[in-house]
Amino acid sequence: MKIFVIANQKGGVGKTTTVMNLGAALAKRRKKVLLIDLDPQANLSSGIGFTQQFDKQSWTSTDKAPYKNIYDVLVSDDSISSAFVATSTPNLFLVPSHLSLAGAEIEMVNMISRETLLKKKIEDIKEDYDYILIDCPPSLGLLTINALSAAQKLIIPIQCEYFALEGLGQLIETTKLIKGVNPSLKIGGVILTMFDSRTKLSESVVKDVKDFFQDIAFKSVVPRNVRLSESPSHGKTIFQYDDKSTGALAYAKLASEFISRFDD
Ligand code: ADP
Ligand code: MG
Repeated sequence: MKIFVIANQKGGVGKTTTVMNLGAALAKRRKKVLLIDLDPQANLSSGIGFTQQFDKQSWTSTDKAPYKNIYDVLVSDDSISSAFVATSTPNLFLVPSHLSLAGAEIEMVNMISRETLLKKKIEDIKEDYDYILIDCPPSLGLLTINALSAAQKLIIPIQCEYFALEGLGQLIETTKLIKGVNPSLKIGGVILTMFDSRTKLSESVVKDVKDFFQDIAFKSVVPRNVRLSESPSHGKTIFQYDDKSTGALAYAKLASEFISRFDD
């Protein structure tokens, strides 16, 4: 198993943080990892430090991007490898996104096999990586559907708060719909994020989610940790920013669990 989509149509649940830091933790374990940023907001691309070499105006402009990105790949004949960039973490590679990807969703509507454009692009390179992690926008639009079609496993981050389980039904329904395009897609795991040990609420969400998803829920829970929210503004993964933080330890533990669950 190697192609994972990290999705939840809710925003702010820790999708991007998880793709970046789980990816970095896996790379530290000598796995060759490719991250695909499929969110027009490009938070993953900036968080990992890629867009730092461009002035902010050029990478937040809705016009043409100053760098090759997933948008160019999806709407043209270009191969996905033409958009690869190495990150400052060894073994960790990125296909960046750009705000112009927002327009791709509209352009893609009229394209043939519009749900499987990403899947076809990944086909050529999937043997080159141990893990491919796809970061999604906070919606169930065509971009997320492309990611769900391309992946083998769906990983769902859930924030430890009251409304966490709301909307999850919708995601699971969508997953069932996707079976038409991608019959082999399965839920690979649920990651509890932003756990706050000071609140009873966090504990009850953890209990509910673990009762509901049982073994699908990862045992390692990611705590709320300010270092995790600071690191993207420095263009660094949590391991580069604060290796000793509770956030770094949590993602390292999660990576171990991930490897034992998915390594063949
Ligand atoms: P999503 O991609 O689902 O929208 P993000 O990963 O961007 O969510 O997280 C939303 C916000 O919460 C970001 O500002 C991020 O830095 C912060 N954040 C994510 N995970 C944690 C955490 N475990 N502790 C503290 N802040 C977090
Ligand atoms: Mg995000």
